Amino acid sequence: MDHIQALIDKLEAESRLSREEWITLIEGRSPNLAEYLFEKARKWQHRYYGNNVFARGLIEFTNYCKNDCYYCGIRRSNKEAQRYRLTKEQIMECCQIGYPLGFRTFVLQGGEDGKFSQEELEDIVRTIKDNYPDCAVTLSIGERSYESYLGLFQAGADRYLLRHETAEGNHYSRLHPPGLSAENRKQCLRHLKEIGYQTGTGFMVGSPGQTAAHLAQDMMFIRELEPHMVGIGPFIPHHGTPFAKEAGGTVELTLFLLGLLRVMLPGLLLPATTSLGTIDPKGREKGVQAGANVVMPNLSPTSVRKKYELYDNKICTGEEAAECRDCLEKRLGKIGYRLAVSRGDYKEEKLCTM
Ligand code: SAH
Repeated sequence: MDHIQALIDKLEAESRLSREEWITLIEGRSPNLAEYLFEKARKWQHRYYGNNVFARGLIEFTNYCKNDCYYCGIRRSNKEAQRYRLTKEQIMECCQIGYPLGFRTFVLQGGEDGKFSQEELEDIVRTIKDNYPDCAVTLSIGERSYESYLGLFQAGADRYLLRHETAEGNHYSRLHPPGLSAENRKQCLRHLKEIGYQTGTGFMVGSPGQTAAHLAQDMMFIRELEPHMVGIGPFIPHHGTPFAKEAGGTVELTLFLLGLLRVMLPGLLLPATTSLGTIDPKGREKGVQAGANVVMPNLSPTSVRKKYELYDNKICTGEEAAECRDCLEKRLGKIGYRLAVSRGDYKEEKLCTM
């Protein structure tokens, strides 16, 4: 216990560990150690962001996807998925609903849908920024060329989410069909950072075949990339995928990794994800108490919510945006946090002035 606890202190002081140390820490974790870690994580969370939790309005604008990731419910080969795409007008309606609810970041997420041209995407970004100049636009639309990322950035996009999914090449191939590679995904992330996006990476916890050694590599990759955001959530099987019968990830390990991320890179924007809320009714609250400081309630029209089914039993697919927002605000209030009306940009400095 003591030598493992010392690794948490070392991580806090030096912001990095060796591969062997990461493995020892992850494999040696215990409930007591987790409490020790979460206390430190909350200390850093408060130094940077106070008790503010930032809300991002998630607009799932298309579930068409050319990719066939083995874990994902909207993979190309899932013929059961009912496909939809929102029009630009529908996307703007989502923003119109979200703004008065206090959302100052809109996240456009979707499958890799070639039907949206570069010009159309730039036009959508530009229109949102023109209408809501005090809001940030985040994109989460997969792997694209440097030129495409640059064009979208110049059109006004502020942030980009692209989870690396797993940093280790063989494990990447266990989760993805040939043609997709960890190397390309990492290259995209480097491009995004270079262009100037606030960049988010991340991975699923407990994906099939994942070991502590893989997680060590994920943590080391994140340390090296120094992203602004890291999204992690448990893997949850989807019945219409090759991983239907695989075990899902756990709340316990997800929380522990959230705590480690906060201590390693204390200024991170770290969401308590919907998947964490799906496997535990208090999952998102526990995530915030382990160091997370972002929530991403759904702003998609209720008519399409169930169709953006990445995994089974996804929560919050029936409620209106206002209900989701109010529900989250109440939940956060109960544990001493507030839902901030703010863009919630990444902070280099640790002084919290909010
Ligand atoms: N097409 C975009 C968005 C992908 S969906 C992109 O490529 O980035 C967003 C994230 O959901 C993925 O990065 C993946 O980590 C997560 N996800 C997909 N299927 C999942 C599942 N079955 N369980 C948990 N998370 C999943």
